Amino acid sequence: MELTAGFEHFVRTDEPLAQYTGLKLGGSAEYFAEPTSVEELAAVVKRSRELNIPTRVLGGGSNLLINDDGVPGLVIYLHHPAFSTIEIDGNRLTAGGGAKLAHVISTAVGNGLAGLEGLAGVPGTVGGALHGNAGGNGVDIGHRTVEATVMTRAGEIVTRTAQDLHFTYRESSLDELVILNGVFELEPTDSQELTRRMQKFWIVQKASQPGGSENMGYLFFDPPGLSASSLIEQSGLKGTKVGGAEICAEHTNFVLTSPEATASDVARLAELVQGRVKEVTGMDLKCQLTSW
Ligand SMILES: Cc1cc2nc3c(=O)[nH]c(=O)nc-3n(C[C@H](O)[C@H](O)[C@H](O)COP(=O)(O)OP(=O)(O)OC[C@H]3O[C@@H](n4cnc5c(N)ncnc54)[C@H](O)[C@@H]3O)c2cc1C
Repeated sequence: MELTAGFEHFVRTDEPLAQYTGLKLGGSAEYFAEPTSVEELAAVVKRSRELNIPTRVLGGGSNLLINDDGVPGLVIYLHHPAFSTIEIDGNRLTAGGGAKLAHVISTAVGNGLAGLEGLAGVPGTVGGALHGNAGGNGVDIGHRTVEATVMTRAGEIVTRTAQDLHFTYRESSLDELVILNGVFELEPTDSQELTRRMQKFWIVQKASQPGGSENMGYLFFDPPGLSASSLIEQSGLKGTKVGGAEICAEHTNFVLTSPEATASDVARLAELVQGRVKEVTGMDLKCQLTSW
């Protein structure tokens, strides 16, 4: 059976992926699903497993490097509002995996709930943030996560509670196929005071990123106790270019891409930086972009 049979209303073929990513490059997905309900999601996940089709989930695309030749198999995009709900019950906020992190933070702050505001300015979705334990301003999303609902590769829905959730620097134990939602335990705080705090964090975060509307990606994890951008700067790599990919001169842990850039330019630039940083500082930098 074809993957798309009966799913034509939400599965397309040969979908260009550049438009869904921060780097704005790379090829097409063989199959691209935008389910409109958990039932549709489960049905396409089960079908892809039966047919042995590799399957991936796309969040906000802020951390993805899409291969120039495209992505074989199925890419699932949780863009429908069914996957972006945000609900508050007392101190707990539950957010869908497809919800924009920025929206979740402003909802929490607007309701006088503190704990996520340090992540203001981090792009992407709740699913992407939970998958990679996104952090900023000394906090990470895992600190506040008490529960998550996931869908396994078999299409089953499982709730993961605090005991089996583990978060370390930019890593989490949430490795099932789809993160459907996360539950965050927050602290009641004066909403106006919290808004000021969030604005301050947002300004700090934005000041550490390239401004404007450039196409960009965040390149390397910070080695323990060190900053990847300082190591890159010390190694004299500001503004280094490979094809259409360039190390941002002001914020050296970011790669900027021109419309002509390819994924291979970005990968070669990352390798060049890793080699030079090792030579000059002796440190190994680990690329944080997920390559598809
Ligand atoms: C300008 C800029 C600034 C950044 N600043 C920070 C920062 O301060 N701190 C930080 O931690 N990161 C930062 N990042 C990196 C990036 O924003 C985070 O890693 C973000 O959490 C990725 O979320 P996303 O939704 O865009 O995920 P994507 O890039 O779409 O995907 C990343 C990974 O998460 C998986 N994933 C996404 N959604 C789901 C889901 N629902 N279920 C299962 N898996 C899923 C994908 O399969 C993929 O493996 C920055 C990036 C940029 C471009």
